[in-house]
Amino acid sequence: MEDLARFDQEHIWHPYGPMPAAVPSIPVTSAEGVTLHLDDDRNIIDGMSSWWAVAHGHRHPHLVEAAHRQINQMPHVMFGGLTHKPAVDLAEWLVDITPEGLDLVFYSDSGSVSVEVAIKMALQYQMGNGHPERNRLVTWRRGYHGDTQGPMSVCDPEGGMHSLWTGQWTPQVFADKPPARGATEEERARYLAHFDSLIDDSVAGIIIEPVVQGAGGMRFHDHELLVELRKLCDKHGILLIADEIATGFGRAGDLFTTKAAGIVPDIMCVGKALTGGFMSFAATLTTADVARTISSGAGGGIMHGPTFMGNPLACAVACAQLDLIAEGQWREDVPRIESRLRDQLQPLASSDAVADVRVLGAIGVVEMQRPVDMGLATAAAVDAGVWLRPFGKLVYTMPPYISTNDEVDRICEAIAAIVAAEEKRR
Ligand code: PMP
Repeated sequence: MEDLARFDQEHIWHPYGPMPAAVPSIPVTSAEGVTLHLDDDRNIIDGMSSWWAVAHGHRHPHLVEAAHRQINQMPHVMFGGLTHKPAVDLAEWLVDITPEGLDLVFYSDSGSVSVEVAIKMALQYQMGNGHPERNRLVTWRRGYHGDTQGPMSVCDPEGGMHSLWTGQWTPQVFADKPPARGATEEERARYLAHFDSLIDDSVAGIIIEPVVQGAGGMRFHDHELLVELRKLCDKHGILLIADEIATGFGRAGDLFTTKAAGIVPDIMCVGKALTGGFMSFAATLTTADVARTISSGAGGGIMHGPTFMGNPLACAVACAQLDLIAEGQWREDVPRIESRLRDQLQPLASSDAVADVRVLGAIGVVEMQRPVDMGLATAAAVDAGVWLRPFGKLVYTMPPYISTNDEVDRICEAIAAIVAAEEKRR
């Protein structure tokens, strides 16, 4: 295993890292439920749900069974000109559970690609409507939508991981960061007036992560803002794109945050927990109106078609994931985890090293006063039996929904251990 870690460090890129890696990655040999089994025989809790994806725990038996069944039948077939039951079943599911009117489904191989497709849809829609000059998007600062070129252009232009590229891609329009959750009506109104003032004839649509801004800052805002953004889109004849890749399937307390806000976006992306963390897969949903306009326009259709589009294995596992969502245990688990996280994390706010503590659904965030030392923080968490992956000033957790109260407590203890390590460093 030492050889494995060394070869990995010298030859394999890891996310957002240099080559060779500054800190070696930790070899994992197996995973089950909330637990990651490390090669040195330690068991640690996956406090990240492996980046929001493993919502129901690792190797959930229902998903394992669905995967085996589909592997034995047809793991893959091209989607150009062919179709299959897993793709149709999944589309039926998605059309049924997403906001009313999102009736059309485009499958892709990752969240970033689903956002690329969403952006293409918005621009092609405006072209089809005779407005090719409407080719920019408005978004708010502190957002994150993925790592390919289109999504990068709408990520936070300064604080995010893509500031290196500012000015290199399509120049998009950036509003200030949204007012934090619990804002007054006046604060929201002032913010929306500012947002509105940025929309001109060059704008095709608004793209946002509704209610939870993830990797751009782990910030929460009010559902009411979504209602007002929907109105702005209608007023200007532009489209609302909701990136529910992180928030979808219960993570923020509701099945989808847009649905909870009572709005229907024109385009919506889902991914991450869609396959319960089994494999990379995503979907972009839209309305019949958008699809009709795109299809009658110059391209004659949506100009995208990944090799693994509609992959049957991913579709079958996603259907099984949706069985679990339909069973509904998450509706009890997410609020239970939320109140546990709130009780256990709130006391950390009294530390001088901590700037803010916030919790929403099964998401707990401790924002530090200054960037954490990643090596120290990871070691402190692993020593406490938990896998956490802070970034910048943010120490955060999205526990699998199946986490017991004791497991949530252990995650919070690990976060407290990071805070203690940071206090010592001051
Ligand atoms: N949008 C949001 C809101 C995300 O959190 C992510 C993933 N961090 C993406 C898009 C990109 O998804 P993927 O990593 O699957 O490309």
